[in-house]
Amino acid sequence: MNAIGSFKGLQAPCGRIVDGERYEDHDDEVVITQETLYTCGCQSIQHEYHDGSVSRKIVRHDGHVLVDELLSAE
Ligand SMILES: [Zn+2]
Repeated sequence: MNAIGSFKGLQAPCGRIVDGERYEDHDDEVVITQETLYTCGCQSIQHEYHDGSVSRKIVRHDGHVLVDELLSAE
């Protein structure tokens, strides 16, 4: 994972205003992986696949999965 930047004062999935960091990764199986890690422990992970479909998962800092979805390409 490559850190692509940090941010301050954004709203985490749990509703708190926190800082955090963004990461991005490229590999053969998943075209692009983007991760956002919030200092409270919440995280958001997005994968883009070769066929254009996108999966998105948002996990709250207590481990509760808020969003887990796959958006398929047209
Ligand atoms: Zn949180």
